[in-house]
Amino acid sequence: MAWFKREKQKISPVEKKGVPDGLWVKCPTCSEFLYKPELDKSLSVCRHCSHHFRIDPKTYHDLLLDKGSSKEMFANIRSKDFLNFKAEKKYKHQLDTATKRTGQNDAINIYIGTINSTDVILGIMNFVFIGGSMGSVVGEKVSRMIDYAHENKLPVLLVCASGGARMQEGAISLMQLAKTSAKLAQFSEGGGLYIPILTDPTTGGVTASYGMLGDLILAEPGALIGFAGPRVIKQTIGQDLPEGFQRTEFLKEKGFVDHIVTREKMKSTLYNIISILHE
Ligand SMILES: [Zn+2]
Repeated sequence: MAWFKREKQKISPVEKKGVPDGLWVKCPTCSEFLYKPELDKSLSVCRHCSHHFRIDPKTYHDLLLDKGSSKEMFANIRSKDFLNFKAEKKYKHQLDTATKRTGQNDAINIYIGTINSTDVILGIMNFVFIGGSMGSVVGEKVSRMIDYAHENKLPVLLVCASGGARMQEGAISLMQLAKTSAKLAQFSEGGGLYIPILTDPTTGGVTASYGMLGDLILAEPGALIGFAGPRVIKQTIGQDLPEGFQRTEFLKEKGFVDHIVTREKMKSTLYNIISILHE
């Protein structure tokens, strides 16, 4: 058996044009280069194709709530390492690292504040905190937020960004699906208004619980929204998946999302919905 040997030199890669670090960003949808300070001013939305880049929770907070109106709630709840979990890294270390990186105690912050002078309670998930995973703390904070809203007759808004349940907390994480869903059912029976805002990415246990239980479900354009990833689904059903599968626009067409809202219009849209639906 003959072995073929490469005699010529490998083709050397073309040198990439230098892009100064941090100043320019390439849009993953239209490939245009965007000047970072300008992109920040436009709420991290591409001016060529309207691609919505992921933004941090603080930007979302400032985008939605009236300046100076907000107060953080339930900030001091921290996760316990119930299982003494260790995979590549110890769970305890992961928590410490995530806290240092984000300045948060877990993957969600809750605020009371106002939108155009209307009182709301708002949860914002942080994908940077262990993939925005839902463990005992996220479940507990969401539950307390709903209780608080019930007592004070506030609409509940929740900006979702999550990779799913937090496997490091095992079954305790999975219980949060039932816990938050039950709370929302009670809230709804009592006439409460709940609006989830699905951002890129909203997947796994969050999609399977409070992500999809809104009176109205809003989503940002182009966000990945689904339960299992496309590769797993493809393998399971043995079929190719349609184009745009698990993106906001596809989900809207299939009836899972009610309204696609650009970042620019998010605050005014929420205000309009609350004005109409909240008693
Ligand atoms: Zn673009």
